[in-house]
Amino acid sequence: MRLYDYMLKSIPLLLILTPIYAYNFQTAPVQLHWIILSALSFVLFFVFYRYEIINKYSKNLQKNINIIDEHVLISYSDRSGKITDASEALCRLTGYTKEELIGKNHKIFRHPETPKEVFEELWYTITRGETFKGEIKNLSKDGSICWIDATITPIINKKGDIEGYTAIRQDITDKKIAQELSITDKLTQTYNRLHLENIFDKETQRAKRYGDTYSVIIMDIDFFKPINDNYGHDVGDQILIDIVKVLKSNIREIDVLGRWGGEEFLIICSNTNIDEAFLVAEKLRITIEKYDFYVVGKITCSFGVSEYRQGDAHSDVAVKRADDALYTSKDAGRNLVTSKD
Ligand code: GH3
Ligand code: MG
Ligand code: MG
Repeated sequence: MRLYDYMLKSIPLLLILTPIYAYNFQTAPVQLHWIILSALSFVLFFVFYRYEIINKYSKNLQKNINIIDEHVLISYSDRSGKITDASEALCRLTGYTKEELIGKNHKIFRHPETPKEVFEELWYTITRGETFKGEIKNLSKDGSICWIDATITPIINKKGDIEGYTAIRQDITDKKIAQELSITDKLTQTYNRLHLENIFDKETQRAKRYGDTYSVIIMDIDFFKPINDNYGHDVGDQILIDIVKVLKSNIREIDVLGRWGGEEFLIICSNTNIDEAFLVAEKLRITIEKYDFYVVGKITCSFGVSEYRQGDAHSDVAVKRADDALYTSKDAGRNLVTSKD
C-alpha cells in the first residue's frame, strides 16, 4: 500500500485525534504527556503503515508459493539427494504423497533403463556447484514411465558451501512418446529405417573423427514369401515379431537393431570390426536356425556383413557392400553369413 493510500485510510483516526491535540496544545503551557502522546501517535502511525505493507507482500508471496506448489514440478533435496520438500504438482505427476516423498532419496524416481552415466554426469555437474540440464526417464509410483526435462541447481549457503539442490522439471512424456513412435517400426516394435539412418550419421561422424570403424550386418529371411502364401499374412507378421525378439535377446548392448524394410533387418555394431561382426552374425544365424517359430517351425536367414572403411564418404558405401555380401549368401544356397570388405 502506498503512503498516500494509507493516509487516506487514516483520515477517520486523524479526524478524531486532531481536535483533541488542537485543544490541548492551545492550553499553554503544553503538558509533557501530550507531547509524548503525540510522538507515540506518529510512531504508531508508521508502525501500522509498515505492518500493512509487510502484510500485503506476505499475502502476495503466499499466493505465489501456492501457484508454484500447484503448477511447478519442483522438489528440494539435501546434499545426499534426500528429498526435503516436493510440490503438489510433482506429487500429482508421480503418484506419491508429500509424506511418502519427504525423507526418501531422489533415486525413488529412477527408471532402471536409464544408463548410469546419466546420473554420473548429473552428480558430477551439481557437486561442482553447476546447474545440470537434461532429459531423464522417470518412474511413477504405479510403475508408469514419465519423461522429464530437469534443471537441477545447487543451493549455496552464505559460506559458499552446497547445502542442497533444487530440481525443477517439465513433463515431456508426450513429446518423448511422439519421438519414439517416429523412430519405431509399428509391427515389430524395433527401430525403423529413419532411426538407423540417424545412427549411421552419428557413427560415420564418430568413425571419421577418431579414425575408428563400425560394422553393418544385413539379414534377410529365407523363402519368406512362401510362408506368407502357405500360412497367411498374419503368421508372416508373427514371425517378423518373433525374429526381432530372438535378435534383440542375442545382440550386444552396443548393437543397434532396426527393420530395414519388408523382411530385412539391419544391425549397426558400433566400434566393431568386420571379423567381430561376422561372429555376431554367425551366432544369430545359428540361433535362428535352432529356434522353433510359431506355426511354421524352422526358418533360416541369410546374412551380409561389412565395415565402414576410412575414406568411405558415407555409410551407404558400407551398406552397399553388406548388401552385396547378403546376395552372395543367397546365391550360395542361403542360411549363410558372408562378409565383404
Ligand atoms: P529369399 O530367400 O530370396 O529372400 O526369398 P523371399 O521369399 O524371402 O523373398 P521375397 O523378396 O520374394 O519375399 C519377401 C516377402 O516378404 C514378400 C512380402 O510379401 C513379404 N513381406 C514384406 N513385408 C511384410 C510384412 O510386413 N508382413 C508380412 N507378413 N510379409 C511381409
Ligand atoms: Mg527373403
Ligand atoms: Mg527381402
